[in-house]
Amino acid sequence: MQALHLWTLLATYAVAVGQNQGQKNQECPKLNAQMPEFQKKTVHIKDPARVEEIICGLIKGGAAKLQIITDFDMTLSRFSYNGKRCPTCHNIIDNSKIITDECRKKLLQLKETYYAIEIDPALTIEEKYPYMVEWYHKSHALLIEQGLQKDKFAEIVRESDVMLKEGYENFFDKLSEHNIPVFIFSAGIGDILEEVIHQAGVYHSNVKVVSNFMDFDENGILKGFKGELIHVYNKHDGALKNTEYFKQLKDNSNIILLGDSQGDLSMADGVANVEHILKIGYLNDKVDELLEKYMDSYDIVLVKDESLEVANSILQKIL
Ligand code: C5P
Ligand code: MG
Repeated sequence: MQALHLWTLLATYAVAVGQNQGQKNQECPKLNAQMPEFQKKTVHIKDPARVEEIICGLIKGGAAKLQIITDFDMTLSRFSYNGKRCPTCHNIIDNSKIITDECRKKLLQLKETYYAIEIDPALTIEEKYPYMVEWYHKSHALLIEQGLQKDKFAEIVRESDVMLKEGYENFFDKLSEHNIPVFIFSAGIGDILEEVIHQAGVYHSNVKVVSNFMDFDENGILKGFKGELIHVYNKHDGALKNTEYFKQLKDNSNIILLGDSQGDLSMADGVANVEHILKIGYLNDKVDELLEKYMDSYDIVLVKDESLEVANSILQKIL
């Protein structure tokens, strides 16, 4: 009788603790049985048991321990829509009317050369690195020559074909509702990126953008770029420069990382205290050649997937 009483007390205490920490009173889900989003053909996982274990850790930690670290171009934004390529932040300018046709031609030539190197399955990150620096220096110099006006950015973003991935409203709104820190870490152009998420109505106060921000003169004309260059393969260095941000989030030791490049895998390198990290990688291009490499480095690989459904289904379990 006494034992039963003690058991009831313990059980009541356990429930109270769970509720105090805002945790969902939920068992760890089986991926396919309880998370139908994982049955989609686009989802590729090398080690499902490990992914279940990580998701279980994320659920147990709840909102209090969670933070999101995400890439932007081709991760939060779409790679294609109805068979047509969507633009990166840079491409929004490349395709716009605020640059001359001659400049556009040069930028497109650069893109042909250097994007091929960016995604070349035969080259290592170390081999690609100097070419990426070259691409950014050349393309940014061309933009500076054009004397771009900051007050034209809202219009060129509105007129562009940029689109965020399906389910973005749910993704950003849920994270904002629970005040989960979202670190958008992009080798794109910060000023354009901010305009895209502002126009989409999802630039909530829990979102921090780290990217290449432009420097304008007193007339709002582009004169350079601020800070050190962030390119596709130096996110490790950028991550370490943001240790102050991550220090403030020292209790947010559970991370969902979203990216589309091998370079995005180092975006969480500045986080001091990592308990569980789930890496979700979008594989958009050169799928046959890169799938194995992506499956070896990302926990979940989403092949030609233009939605945030999988991430949203995980958030649904955690929050
Ligand atoms: O946000 P994220 O880090 O993905 O932004 C980088 C992307 O910008 C790369 O995928 C790269 O292909 C693209 N880029 C571009 N034009 C440039 C430089 C980079 O479209 N001049
Ligand atoms: Mg990207």
